[in-house]
Amino acid sequence: MPASPAEPGVPGDPGDPGDPGVEVSVVVPAYQEAEVLPRLVERLRPVLDAAGLAGYEVLVVDDGSTDATPAVLARLRRSWPQLRVVRLRTNAGHQAALSAGLARARGRRGVVTMDADLQDPPEVLPLLLEAGRGADVVYAVRADRSVDPLLKRATAALFYGLLRRLGGTGPAQAGDFRWTSREVVDTVLRLPEQHRVLRLVVPELGFPAAEVTYARGARAAGRTRYPLRRMLRLSLDAITGSSTAPLRLATLFGLGGALVSALLLLYALGSWAFGSTTPGWTSTVVAVTVTGTLQLLCLGVLGEYVGRLHVAAQGRPAYLVARDSLDDERDDRPVG
Ligand code: UDP
Ligand code: MG
Repeated sequence: MPASPAEPGVPGDPGDPGDPGVEVSVVVPAYQEAEVLPRLVERLRPVLDAAGLAGYEVLVVDDGSTDATPAVLARLRRSWPQLRVVRLRTNAGHQAALSAGLARARGRRGVVTMDADLQDPPEVLPLLLEAGRGADVVYAVRADRSVDPLLKRATAALFYGLLRRLGGTGPAQAGDFRWTSREVVDTVLRLPEQHRVLRLVVPELGFPAAEVTYARGARAAGRTRYPLRRMLRLSLDAITGSSTAPLRLATLFGLGGALVSALLLLYALGSWAFGSTTPGWTSTVVAVTVTGTLQLLCLGVLGEYVGRLHVAAQGRPAYLVARDSLDDERDDRPVG
């Protein structure tokens, strides 16, 4: 078995090459999920044991949880050797945790990614694996989101609609519950992007894809780790990460403004020629307010992109790995 990388988690985390003993990896990011993890294991293990795989690992990425998650995982690992825990140094966020999992997953055939909170039902896994024999990417698409609160559904519809209009690809309303073949995983990991939004990067690669539909369950316990603030950030990351169309806003406004100004100029000159000029307070205020707003908006859009360029130029890793239970096992093995 190849030695683990000397400095894991640094830019371009070299992670682990596929392990011949592991056919499929299941990557599960978890942040403050002490309550749900035992229930996840209870439902996930029978499904995987019965899936007829040559070997599997369940790689839970503990995204810097400060609750009992590490202790619960350590306990669960004692009775489930296939459970592997990668602990991140800080709370790096859902997408970064997924990237960490992908970088370290050993699945020779591929990787399934799913949420820890049982909203992605483990029972769908065999369908994903089966469809994965004929496609590089298989999305588990939510057929029914009725358990999600109205605000969540409305914002999700807006988000996916906007992305599609901006030229984004991929199926509607697919989160990060999907199968990706080893080739897709390696391709994603080779991209220099550190702060990737996987649910957009994967479809854009253009690998043959399939879909499996499922009814989204309710969160098994606890509350969402995605408050509105985080959802907004994910949306902005997704939009700026996959489209430069918003940058064209300024040009569009500029062109429209030029047209309006030309008409106004004609009108002003005409009024002056016929000697009917009036103080015109309203038009001045309206013009100043509208231009000011549009300029600020365009500056803001520019700022979003410049900010991300800045972050990309700094090249800091999206996550740092503090511990990988696999390394402990390797250290425990007698040497020589
Ligand atoms: N998550 C994470 N890091 C975070 C926030 C969330 O790893 O900073 C995980 C979380 O434990 C869960 C998944 O990402 O497994 C999705 O989060 P959640 O269920 O809270 O989001 P929602 O389903 O409400 O969109
Ligand atoms: Mg959830």
